[in-house]
Amino acid sequence: MPIYVYTCQSCGTEFEELVFNAAAEQKIVCSSCQSNDVKRKMSTFATTTSESSGAGPSCATGTCPFAN
Ligand SMILES: [Zn+2]
Repeated sequence: MPIYVYTCQSCGTEFEELVFNAAAEQKIVCSSCQSNDVKRKMSTFATTTSESSGAGPSCATGTCPFAN
């Protein structure tokens, strides 16, 4: 199952969450301040699976602004 890294938009905390399905992802909150205003970053290792959320451009081209 994928582990995603999230960044809290409220306090800037980065944290990892196991995501079982899309419904579970909707309930993810910041581990520090419990805000639900979180943004998913690149997965640490589940990068080969299809991205269905349309959250941003593909990082495969190397031009992804979120890659680091
Ligand atoms: Zn937070």
